[in-house]
Amino acid sequence: MKGALYIVATPIGNLGDISQRAIDILKQVDLIAAEDTRHSKILLNHFAISTNVSAYHEHNEKQVTEKLIQELLNGKSIALISDAGTPLINDPGYKLVTAAHDNLVKVVPIPGVSAVITALSVSGLPVNRFSFEGYLPAKVEARRKHLQSIANETRTLVFYETPHRIVEVIKEMQEIFGDERQVTIARELTKQFEQLVRDKLSVIGEKLKDETIKIKGEFVVIVEGVTENQMDKAEVLRINKILSGKLSPSDAASLTAKISGRRKNEVYQMVLDQDKVDNPD
Ligand code: SAM
Repeated sequence: MKGALYIVATPIGNLGDISQRAIDILKQVDLIAAEDTRHSKILLNHFAISTNVSAYHEHNEKQVTEKLIQELLNGKSIALISDAGTPLINDPGYKLVTAAHDNLVKVVPIPGVSAVITALSVSGLPVNRFSFEGYLPAKVEARRKHLQSIANETRTLVFYETPHRIVEVIKEMQEIFGDERQVTIARELTKQFEQLVRDKLSVIGEKLKDETIKIKGEFVVIVEGVTENQMDKAEVLRINKILSGKLSPSDAASLTAKISGRRKNEVYQMVLDQDKVDNPD
């Protein structure tokens, strides 16, 4: 096992989800590079793994990458782990893996859990084609812009979210994707208070408000893509506005529904919602 970099997945909650191969590799390598050494010690102690651990995180990535590559070139074997799940999936490691390839160091995956795949597998939404979006931008403007840019995506969308932003983000998604999009909220996967809720965006918003969905812990948000015969909200409103100039509100909504693949009630609701946004008083 000399001179290889192992990318080792660890559990996202339930320690029973680690693989035997992961335990064996973590015991056998010369060094474990961990995102947070104190956090990882809990996992390593649990499995009686006494290998040396050193820190590898986003703030020291550059210097440590050079040092680790040197060790790998000297024939040492190193395992990279993150705080939870699969390294590099919204976690550090990209620089190290790239540098290992550049230096012709063998890179070996030790696969296991990742919140994105775990959530998709139980989402009840189409999973054969999906777009993993990770965390949305922190700033409201950038976030809304990003949501707009993916509003017409036909693949299922997967987001990582935190409790402080989940309510705001669902509200923004409702505004931008429309009320009817199906969403699955996967909270605290594999943990004691695991919760899975699948419903349309407007209902998910309500369930967060009344705390049927607890605003605590870790979240994966899975959003249905636009179905092929559905248009996004902005386009529906644009068509309805043109038709409203020539037809009665009811006829305009009927025709818009037909063109856009939406239901007439949905078109009415979109017009009402937009009206509230345009005329808040
Ligand atoms: N590397 C990890 C993976 O493979 O999933 C992801 C690390 S990222 C820094 C942490 C985010 O993953 C959390 O904010 C949450 O969105 C998601 N996550 C991690 N564990 C989770 C769990 N048990 N239940 C739901 N989401 C989880």
